[in-house]
Order: sequence, then structure tokens, then C-alpha cells
Amino acid sequence: MARFVFVTGGVMSSIGKGISSASIGALLQAHGFSVRIKKLDPYLNIDPGTISPYKHGEVYVMDDGCEGDLDFGHYERFTNVCCTKEDSTTTGKIYSQILTKERTGEYLGSDVQIIPHVTTEIKNFIKAGEDKVDFIICEIGGTIGDIEGLPFIEALRQMKLEFGANKTIFIHLTYLPYIKTSDELKTKPTQHSVKTMQSLGVQPDILLCRTEHAINDDIRKKISMFCNIQEQNVIQAVDAVSIYLIPEMYHESGLDKQICEHFKIAYNETNVNKALYEKWGKLKNTIVSPKQSITIAIVGKYTKAKDAYISLAQAILHAGFANSVKTNIKLVDTDNGDIIKHISDVDGIVVPGGFSTRGTEEKMEAIKFAREKNIPFLGICLGMQLAVIESCRNIANVKNATSREFEIDGEYVVDAMESWDHDGTTTYAQNQKGGTMRLGAYKCVIANNTLAHRIYNCNEINERHRHRYEINIKKYSDVFKKAGLIFSGMSEDKTLPEIVERNDCDFFIATQFHPEFKSRPFAAHPLFNALVRAALHL
Ligand code: GLN
Repeated sequence: MARFVFVTGGVMSSIGKGISSASIGALLQAHGFSVRIKKLDPYLNIDPGTISPYKHGEVYVMDDGCEGDLDFGHYERFTNVCCTKEDSTTTGKIYSQILTKERTGEYLGSDVQIIPHVTTEIKNFIKAGEDKVDFIICEIGGTIGDIEGLPFIEALRQMKLEFGANKTIFIHLTYLPYIKTSDELKTKPTQHSVKTMQSLGVQPDILLCRTEHAINDDIRKKISMFCNIQEQNVIQAVDAVSIYLIPEMYHESGLDKQICEHFKIAYNETNVNKALYEKWGKLKNTIVSPKQSITIAIVGKYTKAKDAYISLAQAILHAGFANSVKTNIKLVDTDNGDIIKHISDVDGIVVPGGFSTRGTEEKMEAIKFAREKNIPFLGICLGMQLAVIESCRNIANVKNATSREFEIDGEYVVDAMESWDHDGTTTYAQNQKGGTMRLGAYKCVIANNTLAHRIYNCNEINERHRHRYEINIKKYSDVFKKAGLIFSGMSEDKTLPEIVERNDCDFFIATQFHPEFKSRPFAAHPLFNALVRAALHL
């Protein structure tokens, strides 16, 4: 049976619970344990798929098509364990399951309540698959004290009662504000947050204190006393230069040692150091002392939202690690006008995924510029659809080429998937917006003697999708030929274009799928690796 690690957050949001959970996973792996990370989000959406990137950051897509919170990206990148639908839940999902059961009579005769029905559903979610791994790490979204998070904390409290302290641990990530004028780290918000937890019947076992400055013994003692936590379990989490330095920093602060101590697991410093160095230590050298730097532009409309392109930015970073270069990312907002001015000095251009019309003309300007000036270009999802439309308009001279998504009349070279399967009459899942896209990993077959083949060096790949529209190769193959578009990757049944490239540029390639979701810090994704190498003229 697995042991359970519960990660909660205090004081405020955005202090890095996701990266902490992912780092705890990486540390436990360094001890030789198998891990699985789950996230419980207290909001009422069934999943984050319908939340704007402005509000919630990127939607991360898993192999099985689950649309998850961006923290799943951290989990997969740090542990290389693929997450699934069984790892992501929300209040909305829990309630929807309960209400379905209520309607089908599963609770016939009883009233349905938060305790025990909601908490039982939450506990069942946490426990699922407990026989398959050594540790299940559960991150609870939101901040301690939020009304909507209460049933989750209650469920965790019950789990400790059920399984005991030797099977469960509470790690609370909190924040110590630094007051510059008095040069002081303040502990009061942390004390309040722990008090709130205690009032819910939960005593944190370990406090992970996010801080700008190292904490001294006085502060540790004070937190220990007010929060009823042993001094050695008050652990600092100092701001890091790179998120990939965090697992080693936590180790140096003693986090894994204290987790082992809690569970009475033998702690072998030499073995752990070796395992950590093999994985994370080596990476550190390229992070800290890169040989040169390049700039890659991401031309998108969500650039004002800090985390909207997080996996993409990480994938570019990983490709930098693989080539010992620093990759500066220039976020170019399509709303800022004069796109060309902003991209004229970059080494590579990425047009990422996106939805609806706003910004699409500007993105096509960037694509045209990349094509004409022979600047390495990678288009992703909407980026691929726009690359196809741009070539149709400006090379094949089909001036009204467009996508059905943009709601203007024209030649729909990009169309709703089912509209040509059903005589052009129906559009794909018209009235349902949640979970109705082509989601998750699909096979793609790569043609020989193409750029895609040189990049992947194989004929079959599996990549993750998240889109509603497709290139209509059935109707427009002649136009595409005239436009010089080469479809080097196709779906397994050969009906849907997956990769398009041009052979009149050195590096111009676009994919209907999202390669960024499968990039790892230790294994840069071939497409991003190739983009960075092209930007370096290698
Ligand atoms: N809006 C496009 C579609 O739904 C592209 C989606 C995306 O870029 N993820 O097909």
C-alpha cells in the first residue's frame, strides 16, 4: 500500500505548490521509490479546459486526453511519470459524480451530504491506484482557509485517522514576507495559516517556508514554537534561479531526510546524493554556465498571462540545456502592433496554439516574415493552421483562404473535423464546449526524406492534441500543392495532416499536435532541439 504525501498551501496563492509537489516526487524517486502525483482543485469547473489562459494559465494535456491544470506539466517534467485522468479532480467533477449517483438511485433513502458523501468521493479519488506505487503525492489547489477547499482538507483529516501517521504526511507550503525597510522575514502570516489548519483538525508535519532569504535559527525556533512543529521540520524553500535547481535545494535543506524520518524509512545519504547528481546535478552546469545565448520569439495573444505558454517556454529551455545555450524567450503580443519590428532581431519564431480570430492576422504576418527571411519557424496547432492559410493566400493566391473557426466566409482550408464527414452540414460538437476537442495522444506517420523524418529519425510518433479544427486536405490538396506545402506527417489512417513543412526554407515546420507537452528537462523534444539548432545555424 502506498504512503500518502499531502501538499497544502498557506498565506497566498502562486508560491509554488506545484513545483514543490513535483520536487518532492523527484526526491522520492532519488530514494528509489515509485511515485504518482495527483491534484485536487477546489473550483467548480469539471476541468480547467474551459478556463481562459488569462485566468488560469495553460491547459496541460495528458496522453489519455485529460485536460489538466498546468501543474501537471511540472509533475511530468520533474518525475517523467505520465499523469492520467485518474490524477486530476475538481469540486465540479466530484459533485457531478455524486449527482449522477443520486439521480440513478445509488443513495436511495438517504440524504446526500458533504460528510460523508463528498469526502468519501474525494478519498476514493486519492486512494485509487494505491497498490501500484510507493508514494501518492496529492496537491490541494487553493490556499488554506478558502471556503471551497474545506471538504478536501476534511477528507485528508479523515485519511490520517484511517491510515495513521506512518502512512500519511502533511507538508504545508507557506510564505515568509520580507520587509525591506526593517530587513526582516515575518512569520505571522505563516502562524495564522497553520492555526487555520489546526482549527480544521490538521497539524502539518513539515513546513516548507518559501522565502527570498535564508531563514536563521531564531526564525526557525519561532515558527517551530508557534506552529507546533519540530525545528528540524521547519524547512526553508529559498527562491531559486531555475525551477530545476529546486529538488537539490530541498535536499540540501533536509526535506527528504525529514520525510524519511517521519515514515521511519532508512536514509542513505550517499545513494541519494549519487542519484540526485546523476539527474539534477548534471543539468545544473548547463543552467548556470551556458556557452552562448539565442532569442526565440513566441508570437501569441496570451503573452500578458504569465503562465499561458509555460510548457512551450519550458520546452525551448530544455532544448537550450541539450545544446548548452541560454534560450531567451521574447513574448511578442499580437495586440502590440508592428509585429515585424518585434521579431526582426530574433533567432527563431514560434507561433503557438490559440483559439478564435483575434491576433491571427498578426500571427500570419510573423509566419510570412519567417518564411520570406528564412528564419527558423515552428508552428504549433493554430500556428500550423495559420502557416497553411498564409501559404494558400500568399503563394497559391487563394486570397480568401481561412478557417471556419474565424467565422468569416471564404475557402475553409481549415475546417471543423466532422463537417466534411457529414456532407458539410454539421460542425463538430457545436453546442458542447467542455472536453469536446480532439484530445490526447494520437499516432502520426512520418514520410521518409522529409525534415520531420530527419528531426524525429523514425516513421511513427505519438503526440498530444488539443484542437477542434483540421486541415481539409480532402478538398484542397491541389491548392496545398501549389502553395508548396509538404505534409510530412499524417494521422495513422492518412486522412488528417499532422505535420507540414516547406522545402524552400531551411527550417519551416508546423505541427497540428503540441510537442511541448512531451519535452523533459533531461530529454529535450526533437522538434525544439532542432529549432534551437537551426537558430544556432548548426
Ligand atoms: N483553435 C484551433 C482549433 O481548435 C487550434 C487549437 C490550438 O491551437 N490548440 O483547432
